[in-house]
Amino acid sequence: MNKPGLDTLCIQAGWKPENGQPRVLPICQSTTFKYDNSDEMGQLFDLEKSGYFYTRLQNPTCDTVAQKICELEGGTGAMLTSSGQAANYFAVLNICEAGDHIVCSNSVYGGTFNLFGTTMKKQGIECTFVDPDASEEELHQAFQPNTKAVIAETIANPTLVVLDIEKFAKLAHSHRVPLIVDNTFATPINCRPFEWGADIVTHSTTKYMDGHGVSLGGCIVDSGNFDWQANADKFPGLTQPDESYHGIVYTEKFGKNAYITKATSQLMRDLGSMQSPMNAFLLNIGLETLHLRVPRHCENARKTAEFLSNHEKVAWVNFAGLPDNKYHTLAEKYLPGGTCGVISFGLKGGRAAAGKMMDQFHMIAIVTHVADARTCVLHPASHTHRQMTDEQLKEAGIAPDLIRLSVGIENAQDIINDLKQALEKI
Ligand SMILES: *Cc1c(COP(=O)(O)O)cnc(C)c1O
Repeated sequence: MNKPGLDTLCIQAGWKPENGQPRVLPICQSTTFKYDNSDEMGQLFDLEKSGYFYTRLQNPTCDTVAQKICELEGGTGAMLTSSGQAANYFAVLNICEAGDHIVCSNSVYGGTFNLFGTTMKKQGIECTFVDPDASEEELHQAFQPNTKAVIAETIANPTLVVLDIEKFAKLAHSHRVPLIVDNTFATPINCRPFEWGADIVTHSTTKYMDGHGVSLGGCIVDSGNFDWQANADKFPGLTQPDESYHGIVYTEKFGKNAYITKATSQLMRDLGSMQSPMNAFLLNIGLETLHLRVPRHCENARKTAEFLSNHEKVAWVNFAGLPDNKYHTLAEKYLPGGTCGVISFGLKGGRAAAGKMMDQFHMIAIVTHVADARTCVLHPASHTHRQMTDEQLKEAGIAPDLIRLSVGIENAQDIINDLKQALEKI
């Protein structure tokens, strides 16, 4: 049989009903699962047998949706989490402990920056942030003997920096550690990081995958390609006995599924950040149209970016889909079908004009969110970062006049018309 297309996988992967079963993925809204004999239950707890026993570890609805995302990314195993934050936290914590070190792109999402730079630091895991555009020689210098992973975003939120995935994969592998790529903005429709050498992919499913702004969630997908056993000295958590499971060794017992099995049976068990079955059900409905929505987001964003870059009141536009963008060449290589629906731009009138523009929209809404069906805006200097002076904003890499526009899937001309009338009023 031919390999199904991504569009087919969006709809058909995951839930495969047997004779007489519901056609649509059922919501297993149950915390627990019943067994007929004591011995069977015991085997589940020893990881001798696979099966469900408590939803904090695994739930059939969540697993089915994780399987769909796994197939979309071309991985060997996946796990849903309660949020994108939990996905990035677990992806790293699964292979790091106090005393270890990670290398992360400095242009990652603010939540990830705080997680690695502050919270995980307090837990004893140090992070060195690097400029993703730096030369390989410079990047090598960020590594230490205790470095355990490299993390970056395919398209960074909100700076829209496009990652040179091959360069980063080569770098990580030369130091015998995996590359973890947060693929939230690109989605597997536009980029499949495993094809370029990434080892683990994470998602905030809250964004395009859900697509409708209804449920928070995350996902971790393992490519199964990183050889933990060959680098056993670096990854004792996967290659040494786990005392909390009668001394099983994940790599020995689970082979290519070692990483995801440890994440579910150890981290989820102990830290509990499972996605609810109801949210997984909603996420699955979102995934069924991902292949239709993502190209429309990209097309609308391209038209909007072209309109903005030709407008006299607009000082600059950042969108990798524009030919003069700094990341256009990388986007053509890694994201030939389109980048994402998010654009940032600045106004000639600066911070004040940008603040004023916020109050002029009719359809476009001010929200602290990106990547759903509805077009929305945020002016960090007036909203999320309002306490900062212009100088502090620049230090944080955010232009005081920066407006972040998440282009939805409405009629492109209606989006442009709303921007046009708002620009006329300032
Ligand atoms: C939003 C986002 C996150 C965090 O996800 P939540 O679901 O909000 O916890 C992580 N990474 C990227 C790239 C994001 O855009």
